Amino acid sequence: MAIQRPKGTQDLLPGTIEQWQYLEETIRSVCREYGYEEIRTPMFEATELFQRGVGQTTDIVKKEMYTFQDKGDRSMTLRPEMTASVCRAYVEDKLYGQPQPMKLYYIGPMFRYERPQSGRFRQFHQFGIEVLGADQPIVDAEVISLVWNLYKRLGLIGLEVHVNSVGCPICRARHREQLQEFLAARKSKLCNDCQERFERNPLRILDCKNPSCQEETVGAPTTKDTLCEDCSTHFEKVLAILGRAGVVYRVNPRLVRGLDYYTKTAFEVMVEEIGAQSAICGGGRYDKLVEEIGGPPTPGIGFAMGIERVLAALQVQHKLPEEKPKLFAMLIALGEQAQIEGFALLSDLRSQGMPVGMDLLGRSLKNQLKSANRQGVRYALILGEEELARKVLVIRDLTLGEQMEVSLVDAVEEINKKYQRGV
Ligand SMILES: [Zn+2]
Ligand SMILES: [Zn+2]
Repeated sequence: MAIQRPKGTQDLLPGTIEQWQYLEETIRSVCREYGYEEIRTPMFEATELFQRGVGQTTDIVKKEMYTFQDKGDRSMTLRPEMTASVCRAYVEDKLYGQPQPMKLYYIGPMFRYERPQSGRFRQFHQFGIEVLGADQPIVDAEVISLVWNLYKRLGLIGLEVHVNSVGCPICRARHREQLQEFLAARKSKLCNDCQERFERNPLRILDCKNPSCQEETVGAPTTKDTLCEDCSTHFEKVLAILGRAGVVYRVNPRLVRGLDYYTKTAFEVMVEEIGAQSAICGGGRYDKLVEEIGGPPTPGIGFAMGIERVLAALQVQHKLPEEKPKLFAMLIALGEQAQIEGFALLSDLRSQGMPVGMDLLGRSLKNQLKSANRQGVRYALILGEEELARKVLVIRDLTLGEQMEVSLVDAVEEINKKYQRGV
């Protein structure tokens, strides 16, 4: 039996990969405009990094990690996300010694053992940014506005940013207490996961998707009621900057991130899909995370978005670019000598940046023309023995059905003129 790819993975083939490249190129240009630089870290890290940096109590660490012992009997894990790796690199590579803040972005595969029938991939791809070493509200606004403007650039409509402040360890302790008081009498009506969360991580009960949990938390104390003055001023400033910058947002007090190293701003970008809103980006501030993994106290904020998820939203909204012909011109060389001369001509054209091709299967003139047409190529460059003898080349416009003859010495210049005109 033929070997198959692992469950929950995909082959990205020509025909689809162009969409990925388009999205990645758009991401890279927006990051450039905002002054972010790319970081690439290893696909696998010491397991402990994710236990500390993602959190022992999270589903990711408890159930979904690809963990293995390597031949040196060290526990390694395929990265399930990037924030912990970026923070590790920040500490290990002493990026805190460089001019601050560090504004970094990444694009790459992540790995989680998900149930494949839920439409999730075990190898999936994320784009994200991390800003390390800056705690001002304007940084939060920049991070949110970067992804907002990326989605605008891609043409997505029906966007809304949900934003909240989860406070700092001081005011969150107060919130946690009030929340536990409020939920104590209702504990038995919560789902199993939430009953478990009650002691360890009660904030997460607020964003449980289980309907009965949502019902039981109606009227529960929100972070808004318990923010300390510092956190509350920070949040107000973020909102003011976003509003002026034209970012459409809504304060959502149910948006929480339960772990202790998450602080202040938390956000999700929602997109409207058939009948419902769904999140296509999530992020927030994590001022205690770098310390958590053993670095110096360093404020940080970032977000991650699933590439597959955003491509799906672009598809639903018909915002993916149309497929364009890959080649500008096809050489049709007839006879061995013409092939040799033609091949050299193609090299010249390619070295000037023109995407051109020729028949590689020894097909007849008729079939070569057919193939050029099928590929949507605009020009056929015909070089037969007779043309070769007169040192000329026929340039046939396959769209207009017109053709012209140029001398071989002028051919590159003539073809380049057409290419520059974009036809
Ligand atoms: Zn606070
Ligand atoms: Zn629940």
